[in-house]
Amino acid sequence: MASGNGKVAPAAFPPPVDSPREFIKSGLDPEDELIEVGVAIVGGGTAGLACANRLLQLLGDDPETMERLGEVPVAVIEKAKTCGGHNLSGAVVRPAPLEELFPELTREDWRKAGFAFGEVTKEAVYLTPTAKRAVRIPTPPPFKNHGNEVISVSALARYQQQQAEEGGAYILTETAATQLVVQDGRVVGVRSGDKGRGKDGEPLSNFEPGTDIKAHATVLAEGSWGHLTGAAIREFDLARGREPQVWELGVKEVWKVPKPLDRLIHTMGPWPLKVWPRYGQVGGTWIYPMTNASGEHMVSIGFVVELEYADATTSVHDLLQTFKTHPLVREILDGGERIAWGAKALPGGGYWSMPKLSMPGAVLVGDSGGMVDTMALKGVHHCISSGMLAAESIYAALKRGESSLESYERAVEESGIARELWEVRNARQPLQKGLLLGGPLSGLQQISKGKLPGRADWHPNDETPMFVGDTKDSYVKPDGKYTFDKLSSVFISGNATRDDAPNHIRVQKRVPREIAETWRWMCPAGVYEIPDDAPQHGEVDVIVNYTNCVQCGAITAKGGRLTTPEGGDGPLYQLL
Ligand SMILES: Cc1cc2nc3c(=O)[nH]c(=O)nc-3n(C[C@H](O)[C@H](O)[C@H](O)COP(=O)(O)OP(=O)(O)OC[C@H]3O[C@@H](n4cnc5c(N)ncnc54)[C@H](O)[C@@H]3O)c2cc1C
Ligand code: SF4
Repeated sequence: MASGNGKVAPAAFPPPVDSPREFIKSGLDPEDELIEVGVAIVGGGTAGLACANRLLQLLGDDPETMERLGEVPVAVIEKAKTCGGHNLSGAVVRPAPLEELFPELTREDWRKAGFAFGEVTKEAVYLTPTAKRAVRIPTPPPFKNHGNEVISVSALARYQQQQAEEGGAYILTETAATQLVVQDGRVVGVRSGDKGRGKDGEPLSNFEPGTDIKAHATVLAEGSWGHLTGAAIREFDLARGREPQVWELGVKEVWKVPKPLDRLIHTMGPWPLKVWPRYGQVGGTWIYPMTNASGEHMVSIGFVVELEYADATTSVHDLLQTFKTHPLVREILDGGERIAWGAKALPGGGYWSMPKLSMPGAVLVGDSGGMVDTMALKGVHHCISSGMLAAESIYAALKRGESSLESYERAVEESGIARELWEVRNARQPLQKGLLLGGPLSGLQQISKGKLPGRADWHPNDETPMFVGDTKDSYVKPDGKYTFDKLSSVFISGNATRDDAPNHIRVQKRVPREIAETWRWMCPAGVYEIPDDAPQHGEVDVIVNYTNCVQCGAITAKGGRLTTPEGGDGPLYQLL
C-alpha cells in the first residue's frame, strides 16, 4: 500500500459502509406497527422548518386537505435535543425570504424574538499578508452585505420550531432518521433509529426500537452531508451528470465584547494559511457584530477552509485560534469572553454540484440540495426559499392527488436560488489551484456575473493526495483564556454523547500515517488519535473517541463517514 509522504489519497481507504443495505429499508412494517403522518420532514434546521411553517400556512387555509393528511399533517424529525441544537452558520443573511415566510414580523420583531442582532451598515474586507499586517481592499462583490441582518441560525430554528408547533406540527426531537423506506421504487417514509443500545450494539435496559414513519411525501432537510440524503442520491441516481460535491469546514466562536464592533469584517488571507499551491489551502474569515435586545455586545468570529487542501496538518480550529492573535482581531476581542464554539461543514460545489432535487415521494431542500453560494458564504436565504417552494409544490400535489414532486425542481430552477447560484457557477473552481494561481480567473468569473460560458469541473476532496506538512508549526499554543484547545471547546458546545453509545463514525482503523494525520488535525473535536508509539511512516492504528464528535460532517469529505448517532446526542448550540 502506498504510504510515501504526499502519495496517499483518503479515497483509497473508503469507510466500511454498505449504504444500500444499511440505510435503505425495503418496504414498510405492518400498519399497526408504524406511525402515519402527512408530510415527514427530516431535519429541523432553517430549511426543514421553513418547509413545515409554509405547509402549515397553506393547510391552515384549506381544512379539507389538512383533514385528508390525518392526525399528524406535518412531522419534523430532528436528532438534536431541540431544533437549533445542531445548527451553525456565520451568519449574515439576505433578509427577503425570511420576510416572505413571516410577513407579519418586522426586523425589530426578529431582534426581540432573540434570533437577529442588527442590520449591516458598514463593512470592510482585508488581506492579511502577515501575522501583524492587515491591508484594507475595496469590497469584492460577494462580500457586499449592506442591508443584510446578522442572526443566529440555532436561535432562528428554535423560533421556527415554536411557530411550527403553534401551527400544529408534530416535532420529534432527539430522534434520528436512520433509514429511508422505499417501496415499489418510491420513498414512502423513513425509519427512526433505535435508542438505548450499548457500545457493541447490544440492547440495554432502556432499549427502545425505532419505528417506521409512513408519509405521503418526505422532505430531506438534513443539511450538509445528510445521512439519508446520501443514500437517496445513490438509490435514485440523483447525481448523474452533475459535478461531484465538495465541502468546506468552518469553526466558529461567539464572544461577548466590551465595546460594539461598528462594521462587518471579512479577511481573505493569505496568513495564517500557506500561499503555495502544494498546500492546496483556500479559506477566509469573518467577524460579524451582534448586539442583542438587552444591549449586550457580541461578535461572531469564524474561519472557513475548503476541504480540498493537501497538507494533512491543516486544522481549522487551530487556524482560528492563531488568527485571533492578529492585531486586527485582538483589538476587537481583548477584554471579552468566549461564550460559544462550534464547527460544521458546508457544501461548496454550488450550481453544477446540486443533485436532482426530487425523486418519487421525496425532495431535497437547503444544504441537502447543495444550495450554498460559497463565494458569498450564503445559504440561509436559499434554505428558507427552497423549504417554502417544496411546501408549495407538495401542497399542490397533495391537493390534486398527484404523486410527482417534480414541480418543485422546476420552481427552484425558476427562482432566485438558481439565478444567484448560476452567476457564480464557475467562480470557485479556479481556487482549487490555490489563491495565487486561481485568484485572477475567479475574480473574472465574479465580475462577469456568470456571462462567461462553460462548465468548470470540481475535483473530489477525498482524491487529493495528502502529505504531512508544516502548517502545524505555525499554530499558537492555547492559553485557555484567549486561545483554546479542541477539548475545552467541545465542552462549551454542550456536547452530551453517551459514553457507552455505539460508534457512529465509520473509518478504517489502520491507515497510512498521512491519512491518520489528516483526520487527527482536521477534526475540530479531537476525535481521532494516533498512539504515541506508532511508526512515523507506513500504516498506523487510529483511535476514534467518537463521543467527542460534534457532527460537523467533515470526515465524510476526507475518507470516512458520519452516520446518525442516537437521537439527542451531540452538541447543543444556542447562539451559533
Ligand atoms: C461555517 C459556516 C458559515 C456560514 N455562514 C453563512 C452566512 O454567513 N450566511 C448564510 O446565509 N449562510 C451561511 N452558511 C450556510 C448556512 O448556514 C447553511 O446553508 C444553512 O444553515 C443550512 O440550513 P439547513 O436547514 O439546510 O441545514 P442545517 O442547518 O444543517 O439543519 C439540518 C438539521 O437536520 C438535522 N438532521 C440531519 N440529519 C438528520 C437525520 N437523519 N435525522 C434527524 N435529524 C437530522 C440536523 O441535526 C440539523 O438540525 C454558513 C455555513 C457554515 C457551516
Ligand atoms: S468526528 Fe465528528 S466532529 Fe470530528 S470531523 Fe468527524 S464529524 Fe466532525
